[in-house]
Amino acid sequence: MEQNFNENFNEQTLELVKSKIERNLTVERFQLFIKNLSLSKLEGETIVLSTPKHSNVSVLENRYKGQLIEIIEDTTKYTYDIKFVVEGTEKEEKKEKDKIFKLNPKYNFEEFVEASCNILAVKAAKAIAENSNANINPCFIYGGVGLGKTHLMQAIANYIRNNNLDSNVLYVTSEQFLNEYVKSIKNNTMQVFQHKYRTCDVLLIDDIQFLKNKEGIQEELFNSFNELYEQNKRIVFTSDKRPEHLDGLEERLRSRFSWGIITDVQAPNLETRIAIINKKLEKSKIEVSPAIRRKIAEKMKKNIRELEGCLNTLVQTCLLMNVDATMELADNVIAKRIDESNVKEISVGYIKSAVADYFRVSVEEIDSKRRTKDIAQARHIAMYITRKMTDKSLPMIGQEFGNRDHSTVSSSLKKINERIMYDKKLKKDIDSIIDTLENE
Ligand code: ADP
Ligand code: MG
Repeated sequence: MEQNFNENFNEQTLELVKSKIERNLTVERFQLFIKNLSLSKLEGETIVLSTPKHSNVSVLENRYKGQLIEIIEDTTKYTYDIKFVVEGTEKEEKKEKDKIFKLNPKYNFEEFVEASCNILAVKAAKAIAENSNANINPCFIYGGVGLGKTHLMQAIANYIRNNNLDSNVLYVTSEQFLNEYVKSIKNNTMQVFQHKYRTCDVLLIDDIQFLKNKEGIQEELFNSFNELYEQNKRIVFTSDKRPEHLDGLEERLRSRFSWGIITDVQAPNLETRIAIINKKLEKSKIEVSPAIRRKIAEKMKKNIRELEGCLNTLVQTCLLMNVDATMELADNVIAKRIDESNVKEISVGYIKSAVADYFRVSVEEIDSKRRTKDIAQARHIAMYITRKMTDKSLPMIGQEFGNRDHSTVSSSLKKINERIMYDKKLKKDIDSIIDTLENE
């Protein structure tokens, strides 16, 4: 099978796929996100596509992945998964012998704007990086989406990597940590897993909240923690909430999270947002006036990722179209961005109830273990739409749907992906639910 998958997809196929998706997109969007995609490699059934820009990855994931998978299925008659990477980072990863996952070199302390909203978190992160204060261990950083947790976490890893190459730094997202754990059970390689996570010098685990209600992995984390802590190895966690508010995480873990320092990152005020924009534009080739900078800072309040995305779109548009950054263009970009983030903010609860209404089942039945045909179908469709319309990962979707395993989610998605190829009625049903969700 693998042979066939490999034979079936190559650079030419990608060009063909691009030309097909081009018909559905505006010129601007096509140029920004699709045109410059290139084939990085094939990993079995997964096509790894690289994009030049880090900020493109989430848009590609959220907006185009589904379409691309469909078109590829249509073109090759095979169901591939797609992974997006930033050009160049694959090489970096290899160089680090897989020790460091997906470190973004731009996530360093120099590029991070310090302000009252994050000062303590920055100080703690620097102390960890410099190994200058044994009391700051473990370090627990929490806060809302897009406020710099991952940036700080990777800044620690980058700092250590750049200044002290001997230290064995391990940065992982909780999802990667969980996937590795599951794989090591499946492949009977638990010892390798344990060795890796119990012998590093610095362990950085991002978004720890995703380990909730997963007992096996929490046990592993607990044991790794104890081993590392006893040897004075540094440990950092990030999360969306304070440890005591992390329901579904074992008490003994939560209490350990509080042994060192707990600090948060908050939403920045207007001045800080402008300072962040100034920082991001330091090396920009496009002139962006102070008035435009201020306008973007005023409109993009809650999430720095959104703010940065808006700025990037503006700069990229100017570069591609060879035009100046005018206030009119900025207004357009802001309006579109706000539109898009509204689409993205659709909640899983909302999706479930739209699907439940449509198929005349209840939300409780969607979450339940019942497998009658109607209910199972509604559940699969709700998962499919969640995957399409939110940026939730498979494990997160599993959690939202009655605490199911990510492999269950994966097979549900596959079923729907396969069926919509030939089942026109199903495709219509799904489109009409999405339509309702988008337009209400
Ligand atoms: P989180 O992990 O909290 O969701 P990220 O660390 O991914 O957020 O940050 C989102 C984006 O915002 C990143 O591109 C990051 O560089 C940027 N960012 C966040 N806070 C700051 C800051 N204080 N200075 C500069 N950039 C920031
Ligand atoms: Mg993050």
